[in-house]
Amino acid sequence: GAEKTKNVLILMSDTGGGHRASAEAIRDAFLMEFGDQYKIFIKDVWKEYTGWPLNDMERSYKFMLRHVQLWNVAFHSTSPKWIHTIYLAAIAAYYAKEVEAGLMEYKPDIIISVHPLMQHIPLLVLQWQGLLKKVIFATVITDLNTCHRTWFNPRVNRCYCPSQEVAKRALLDGLKESQTRVFGLPIRPSFARAIISKDQLREELEMDPNLPAVLLMGGGEGMGPVKETAMALGESLFDEKTKKPIGQIIIICGRNKSLASTLQSLEWNNIPVKIRGFETQMEKWMGACDCIITKAGPGTIAEALIRGLPIILNDYIPGQEKGNVPYVVNNGAGVFTRSPKETAKIVTEWFTTKSDEMKRMSENALKLAQPEAVFNIVKDIHELGQQCRKPLVTFPYKLTTSFTTIV
Ligand code: UDP
Repeated sequence: GAEKTKNVLILMSDTGGGHRASAEAIRDAFLMEFGDQYKIFIKDVWKEYTGWPLNDMERSYKFMLRHVQLWNVAFHSTSPKWIHTIYLAAIAAYYAKEVEAGLMEYKPDIIISVHPLMQHIPLLVLQWQGLLKKVIFATVITDLNTCHRTWFNPRVNRCYCPSQEVAKRALLDGLKESQTRVFGLPIRPSFARAIISKDQLREELEMDPNLPAVLLMGGGEGMGPVKETAMALGESLFDEKTKKPIGQIIIICGRNKSLASTLQSLEWNNIPVKIRGFETQMEKWMGACDCIITKAGPGTIAEALIRGLPIILNDYIPGQEKGNVPYVVNNGAGVFTRSPKETAKIVTEWFTTKSDEMKRMSENALKLAQPEAVFNIVKDIHELGQQCRKPLVTFPYKLTTSFTTIV
């Protein structure tokens, strides 16, 4: 149409797999819903910080000074202990520089942050540039339950919360109800759309067509007790009486190359086992399996729910992932155990005597699933962009007050 193409800048950091997956999900949904009305740029703000500041000291010095103070101000009220490390301050300075560079390069009409540390500084950068009222800023939270307070900034236009629990925390931290929306965690559209049958997927992925399949993984980095669990499964999924396998194992190691090569070197008890590195079509592997074992990563959990996979959680990153455990367990979509033996026992029972339990959990998983979340998020952002020039900040904001006194 007559309207100009809008630029969308998505700020992320490629730690783990979750932030990138969310960023790509949002990009793909924008393209599917609105085609060339939007140009999407994904910027990994922290990627190249190594080496800095030594390699570019002089030019960055003034900049850093300014930004270190900002970092101080931005974080003083939430996490004082972070402030005092020079290392983090240096990263913050670099990161602000990257945001500023991103603004110059991509000229975004809309900025979307999918990272807990990417609200305060980008919003401050927008303010220096006098762009705060012209650029729409949205936060898409990617933790299901317990999340760090740095996710919340009352100056955003929208804060998308994956669960009611997170929305409650947002309100406690000063956001207004009108700023929050609860649609679910954004998952790549390939999970929601284009569903292929399990039989077809198994053929395509060269899996056994009949044996029940367990998917074992540990996020983008292949974390948690993957090896121990694989070995325990190798034992328990072999029926000593009939000398036949009870199930097959798919192990996805993500970027953990040493895990993959260690697993390759093990002996497997006549059980079909596939060991893979970083896979780009997770929806296919999940669609081909019957249950999943994983650490409590929000991305993996949300994807497994969409595929109706009962979940055995065997680990979590302290802090942000802890709350994902009760989210799954209390909703009857899975169980938590740190013991590889116990995990193997549960899978073996699900594949033999307790198949009804597995089926019930699968149904509960589907009830929790929110495959439309990513589409609802991009449609809402689109509508925000259609609305008139909004007076953005109409209330005093505590960080700005001290910020202006510094500068
Ligand atoms: N993932 C992937 N390929 C792999 C391993 C993981 O695409 O080989 C994806 C996975 O589907 C999920 C994300 O990486 O979307 C992992 O995110 P999660 O929040 O579970 O954990 P993180 O890796 O961020 O700690």
